[in-house]
Amino acid sequence: MNEKQGLSTQCVHAGEIADAHGSPHTPIYNTTTFKFASTADLLDVVDGRKAGSLYTRYGLNPTVFALEQKLAALEGAEAAWAFCSGMAAEAALFMTHGREGIACIGDAYGGTLELIGSQLPLFGVRTHLLLGSELDLLEAHLRDGCGLVFLETPTNPRMEIFDIAALADLAHRHGARLAVDNTFASPVNQRPLELGADFVVHSATKYLGGHSDITAGAIMGSKELLAPVWNWRKNLGQMIAPETASLLARSLRTLVVRVERQNATAQAVAEAMAKHPHVERVFHPGLPGFHGHTLAKRQMKGFGGMLSIEVKGGGAAATRAADRLRLFALAPSLGGAESLVTQPTTTTHHGLTPEERARRGISEGMLRLSVGLEDAADLIADLEQALKDA
Ligand code: PLP
Repeated sequence: MNEKQGLSTQCVHAGEIADAHGSPHTPIYNTTTFKFASTADLLDVVDGRKAGSLYTRYGLNPTVFALEQKLAALEGAEAAWAFCSGMAAEAALFMTHGREGIACIGDAYGGTLELIGSQLPLFGVRTHLLLGSELDLLEAHLRDGCGLVFLETPTNPRMEIFDIAALADLAHRHGARLAVDNTFASPVNQRPLELGADFVVHSATKYLGGHSDITAGAIMGSKELLAPVWNWRKNLGQMIAPETASLLARSLRTLVVRVERQNATAQAVAEAMAKHPHVERVFHPGLPGFHGHTLAKRQMKGFGGMLSIEVKGGGAAATRAADRLRLFALAPSLGGAESLVTQPTTTTHHGLTPEERARRGISEGMLRLSVGLEDAADLIADLEQALKDA
């Protein structure tokens, strides 16, 4: 693929394999294994002398190869590995590059916080969960040998923005690596590797998949750093199924048009909510008054389809509004064609104690909105009727 081609062109064409029948995109190789003409041919692939298909759980399947080339192109990476979920991708990254310690900054996804904060320490991994306001503690952990810094930006649900270039620089000065979960932004809005990050991870279940119909994940980075991740994926059995790989490649062909539309609609919804009398506060990087706006403008090409609002009247008022929404479905995910709403205290951050939620600034009255592909006016009207006498 030509590196100079634009993102939309790469979304359509990168990685696609022409078949003997003229299919315009890679077919689904719905097979678990591949046959060889001779033992010598088989050993060439097994021993890595020749690239080729072998066994689908290893990722050695043409549908998976094609997807991975597309995923790598979208993040401007040398390589990408596809996974059966976003958490599988993160777990393989941590097993490979997190053994010297992991510092997770800010409000990561709840599953990520649990894996890093509670589960990896069971294997002796030293981990640190730092709030965005505790960034000054990071350097001491790096000096102490911590090998991997992990963050999301924008974060969930407060849309906190972190300076990827500055954090990559800090990590590298101490011989550590920086991994960015780019799920919320998508490569349309943010390219962490160009800003100096070493790894990008995705829950492809969200914007990359884009239709709330597949569970998948990905890691992108240099060939050298991704090479050892391969064996963890293989032996932890985290491979994406060929049917899912094909569906994900299908979705990626429309990624740019979907995300650009979601950016514009989320901006309109955020501006309407910022003026709403029953809304205390709006968290969206596209609002000029938002604390991360200047940095987001510098490091993002678009502000994304996610926002959170704080409903006046607290938890009960927010629950009432969420229950009254008709177009926004009450469901804990994001990035699909359908708009979704969640109340972080009942879903993504339900497992945290009230004290920990308060420490993280996640209030009872907060609602997180994932803006889909409906008309902005209809979404705003839905929110207005739900908030009417909140
Ligand atoms: N990263 C982020 C930002 C997420 O929101 C999620 C899931 O909600 C994950 C990772 C985990 O992804 P998956 O559900 O595909 O395992």
